[in-house]
Amino acid sequence: MTTDVVELLQQLIRNACVNDGTPESGHEHRSVATLQDFFGVAGEVFEPVPGRQSLIYRIEGSDSAAPSLALVPHLDVVPVQEEGWSQDPFGAEIVDGFVYGRGAVDMLNVTAAMAVAARPYIRKELEPRGDLVFVGAADEEAGGVHGAHALVDRRWDLVGAEYLLTEVAYPPLSHVDQPTVPVAVGEKGAFWSILKASGTPGHGSAPYRSDNALQKIVEALHGIFEAPFPVGISPEWIRFVEALSLDGDLKEALTDPDRVDEAIDMLAVTDPLFARYVHAVTHMTVSPNMLRSGVKANVIADAATANIDVRALPDMDRDYVDSYLRKSMGTARDEIDITPVSDWGATISPTDNLLWEAIADGVAEMEGHRNLLPTLMNVGTDARFFRKKGTIAHGVGLFDDRMTFSEMLALFHGHDERVSVVSVERTTALYGRVLERFLTPS
Ligand SMILES: [Zn+2]
Repeated sequence: MTTDVVELLQQLIRNACVNDGTPESGHEHRSVATLQDFFGVAGEVFEPVPGRQSLIYRIEGSDSAAPSLALVPHLDVVPVQEEGWSQDPFGAEIVDGFVYGRGAVDMLNVTAAMAVAARPYIRKELEPRGDLVFVGAADEEAGGVHGAHALVDRRWDLVGAEYLLTEVAYPPLSHVDQPTVPVAVGEKGAFWSILKASGTPGHGSAPYRSDNALQKIVEALHGIFEAPFPVGISPEWIRFVEALSLDGDLKEALTDPDRVDEAIDMLAVTDPLFARYVHAVTHMTVSPNMLRSGVKANVIADAATANIDVRALPDMDRDYVDSYLRKSMGTARDEIDITPVSDWGATISPTDNLLWEAIADGVAEMEGHRNLLPTLMNVGTDARFFRKKGTIAHGVGLFDDRMTFSEMLALFHGHDERVSVVSVERTTALYGRVLERFLTPS
């Protein structure tokens, strides 16, 4: 027997709203139709580009002074490499209690759970005190250009809210003394950049003292690959480490800027996936991932570019990033132009707020404890557009013990993405309670 939420999740996976970064991909209109059907209410469709639909419901609250809440899950998923999968990535088969498919944890599980929790409000069976907004958003996987970013910029009247629930719903950590539920509180900034070098074309057979653009880029990248990443220990990170059940000295080292790298190397011995996460949330990271140069093997390259993924911690802005990059590039720095591709600073929400309390109440009812763990995300989500407007944003889910925090990190955009049926149902039940607590307090 499958429940509403699992059937909805399966349909969203089968819709295969694959976003490859091009405007003509995504096809979110399929999942918009699925959701309209599910709610039995048309809602408002936002479609800046044909097929790139987001679906919005804004349910007016009974008390205009009560706080508003937005649920903003995304509808799109990233592409798959089919040969790495043991199941059809768009078949949504249930095997051994897990729903398999692209989007199972990023984030159609949450999309389905939020839709089920919001349905009674959308159908007017329940009346919220403050406004409730539900947005099934397009294009999150390519920066929200045709989805949340555009909606926040152009339709704040429709999607604006004081509080927001979106990504990421994390399973529990294995390195804790007492049960805790990770709650996303913030994400790193994205300062993607293109490095560019110029040279002088000539015959590749006579390179003596040639002016080769590729050589300049390679030297610059070599410096970037070798340079140590700047460390940043945030108050959120310190709170996170306090909850971990690790050896006392290791815990101290994890919050000491001078020893954190050595501590991460130690973690990597037993839990390499967790170590990678810890590294990402305690450092500004730079990952050069694309390189393009020249026109032909026998022509000296007169132009070369490299695309680099830079993720910054709070208080690191474009000036900070550029001066770090220039320093890292060594003597090649004078030959390189840096062009910003994205300029998003890190965003973090405080935890002393009404939504946090509503989540803690919901967790207390279901789990018998209120231990929420403020968790930083190394990835970017639609939350950032809202946080820049002053919205307080969190991400949460309730999982069973069949998947750990570290295991899920590997499934994000990975092979055999899957989520247990029980986890989807528990997350749905939690959202139901959070909405009730937040929207209809007794
Ligand atoms: Zn996502």
